Amino acid sequence: MQALTNRSKVVSKKEMTFVEKLYLPAIFGGLMITVSHFFRKKPTIKYPEQKREIAGVFRGQHVLKRDEIGAERCTACGLCAVACPAEAITMTAAERQPGEEGLYREEKYAAKYEINMLRCIFCGDCEEACPKEAIFLTDRIVQADYKRNIFVYGKDLLVEPKDNPIDLSKRQTPEVKEFKHHTEYQHNQTFDKKQKIKAGGH
Ligand code: SF4
Ligand code: SF4
Repeated sequence: MQALTNRSKVVSKKEMTFVEKLYLPAIFGGLMITVSHFFRKKPTIKYPEQKREIAGVFRGQHVLKRDEIGAERCTACGLCAVACPAEAITMTAAERQPGEEGLYREEKYAAKYEINMLRCIFCGDCEEACPKEAIFLTDRIVQADYKRNIFVYGKDLLVEPKDNPIDLSKRQTPEVKEFKHHTEYQHNQTFDKKQKIKAGGH
């Protein structure tokens, strides 16, 4: 049959010599290749004793942030769930009661908020979609486990502890904040504003 490429090789079928029949040179050659690997720089690390340095904007486990007085910022608007391409987020909204102002920042809050970490692809779209600066991805790694239901993270694992706030200063720099809020940038404009600009207004 005609070869499609010129990569084919003609295999030699010559008789092996006595030394080749001993296989020792071939075994020795193979061992030398193995030994040479001992002295090469290893691309792997001894995790978990040793950990790799990761970027400040690494997209790992989410956090639901609190505001300056410790109230939960999430208002259960559902935008993060709608933006999520993996449909990993679910929530149940509830109305804030009088006297709960210190617990919840807005009149509506998430009584239940869950992220399925097995579905999540850590794209960061939920963070981008949130109008309340409530959800962020962090540099924390989601821990491995044996049971699937462990990976459905509820508010107990997502809301930041009051006494140990999660530092977002590397992710949420003043430049990033400005970029997110500047209404002159098209991605921050509301539909109405875009329509007005199209019609020649401001
Ligand atoms: S990071 Fe992406 S996939 Fe994960 S919950 Fe947020 S939007 Fe969904
Ligand atoms: S995290 Fe943000 S986008 Fe998601 S429900 Fe709460 S306020 Fe809305």
